[in-house]
Amino acid sequence: MSENSTQLPHDDDGKLITYAWPGGYPVYYITADGGTLCSGCARMAEDDKLSPNPDDAQWHIVTAGVNYEDDLFYCDHCSERIESAYGEDDEPADDMSCDQCVAAMINGVFCHETGCPNTHKVKIDGEWVQPEPDQCES
Ligand SMILES: [Zn+2]
Ligand SMILES: [Zn+2]
Repeated sequence: MSENSTQLPHDDDGKLITYAWPGGYPVYYITADGGTLCSGCARMAEDDKLSPNPDDAQWHIVTAGVNYEDDLFYCDHCSERIESAYGEDDEPADDMSCDQCVAAMINGVFCHETGCPNTHKVKIDGEWVQPEPDQCES
C-alpha cells in the first residue's frame, strides 16, 4: 500500500513541482481541509512526511492546481502570494514616467510620444539625461 502522494506532480529531483510544464504555470497545492499551500510549503510538508497523513488535514495534500490568473492568491501557511500565470501586473512603470509626454511601456520598451524632448534620453535617478555616446547601442 502506497500512502505517499504519488499522484501529485513531482520534478525529476523527486520534489513537488513549482511550475507546470509546458507553459511554466505557477502550481499550488490543495490540502484536505481545503487550504492552499505554495510549492515551498507543500515540499516542506512532504519532506516532513506530513502530507501523506490523511489525519493531518491541514498538511495532507490532496491535489495540485495551476494558478492561471488569481492575483490575490495566498499560501495558507506562509502567506506568500502564489504567482499567477496571467494575472501578474507588470512592474510599475512610474519610475520611468516622463514629465514631457504620456509615455508608455510597450513590449518592455519605453516609448515616448513623437517629438518628446526626452525621446533619446535615459532616466537615471529620476532625471532624464543624455546617454553617453559610447553607451548608445544603435
Ligand atoms: Zn507557503
Ligand atoms: Zn517623453
